[in-house]
Amino acid sequence: MEARHGQTAMNASVTRKLLVGVSALVLAQPMFGPRTPAGQAHPDGSLGDSDHAPVGVLPGDPLNRLGVTAGDLREAGSNPKIRYLGMTRFLDKARAVVTGTLDDSSDFVPRAIDALDKYGIKATIAVSTQREPISRLWERLREAISSGHEVASHSRRHQCQWPDPESFCREAYSQDEIVGSRDDILGKTEQPYVWTWVYPCGNCADYEFVHRRLMQAGYLVARNYPDERRGGILVPDLQTWARDPYNAGFTQVVQKKGGVAPAGRTDLTDLNAKFDEVYKGEAGSGNSINKTFGGGIYHFMSHPQWLDYGPDKFFEQHLAYLSGRPDVWYVPMGPLYAYQVVSENTVVRPIKSKDGWERFAVYHSLDPAIYNNSVTLEFRVAGGGKLEARSAGAPLPERESKQLTDRWNVKYFRRAGESALVTVRPNTIVELRLID
Ligand SMILES: [Zn+2]
Repeated sequence: MEARHGQTAMNASVTRKLLVGVSALVLAQPMFGPRTPAGQAHPDGSLGDSDHAPVGVLPGDPLNRLGVTAGDLREAGSNPKIRYLGMTRFLDKARAVVTGTLDDSSDFVPRAIDALDKYGIKATIAVSTQREPISRLWERLREAISSGHEVASHSRRHQCQWPDPESFCREAYSQDEIVGSRDDILGKTEQPYVWTWVYPCGNCADYEFVHRRLMQAGYLVARNYPDERRGGILVPDLQTWARDPYNAGFTQVVQKKGGVAPAGRTDLTDLNAKFDEVYKGEAGSGNSINKTFGGGIYHFMSHPQWLDYGPDKFFEQHLAYLSGRPDVWYVPMGPLYAYQVVSENTVVRPIKSKDGWERFAVYHSLDPAIYNNSVTLEFRVAGGGKLEARSAGAPLPERESKQLTDRWNVKYFRRAGESALVTVRPNTIVELRLID
């Protein structure tokens, strides 16, 4: 990944701090009330990055909000029958993730969403909110949100320029484009938040001031489209989380030649082989920073106007290849990156048992209106008795078998050998009980 500034060289903890540390000054997506004032300390007592006050980090003690006192906490492992092992890397212990992004407001968007739905693939649909035919798309976009997709901002007007000097980016990344497009999506749909920005033409993705403006508007992640002219977009080959979420790559394009790119990528054998590589997580050569072992994140991107539709064409054939895998998590990009923050910030503590229930406080300090994600907790359960689970006092439904993981905020539990996998939204008390 080329960069004109130093952010890509930052270590992960700094990047993470920036990700959570979004400024409250201009912005904050409007519906969730006042943000933490600039300069306020993090809940853990550390001061935020001087340029960025935390957004989406709630003041106060999350354990207090759960009604848990220090005296309720106890040491792990005091019950030999039910033991907390840890949080799974992806939701419901999926081996790998499939996510997609679709770019542009075009009349082909509904057909592309139809194709995704036919195969159960979840994607981020990035539209320019004041560029026609957007007025004909909103209804289909609202349906898409209710079936588990995400609508992202691709700016209001989709301004592009090559090269993209700072002067151009300062004008193109105006509040009107960044905040206005976000508010258009919030106003036209029921989506609770706009997590994702997608850079029009890939312009301006390397400028730190652009990242800061996007953070200030509350975006958690921004997807790039690197070096379109020289084909850098074909296989950026990112197979895990982006180190810099405001300059986030993807794995490969799935589309015909279009725009100013020298080629497309439509060969089904090549497309499927790249997915296999990510799924298996065996990549040990090449740019290892982008890769992961044991299954990673496969992220394809497409322009709906540069596809062929139909079950015998490359796009749908590739979707069919990706689909229906019980050990894959299908999720749009924004909720996927929100999940990364949630899973890194969620704490699980055993608390005093009660009436035969083993109890665990599961909490974080993040705003649940932004980070509405579930996480999956893995427990070792000794013995073959029947297991019951509750969250916030309510019974959790049990899934008798592994089903497709294609949502990011549901609640349930399932047994898997000697483990129990409990998928819940944090800021709750999870209770488990064995009935012999
Ligand atoms: Zn575009």
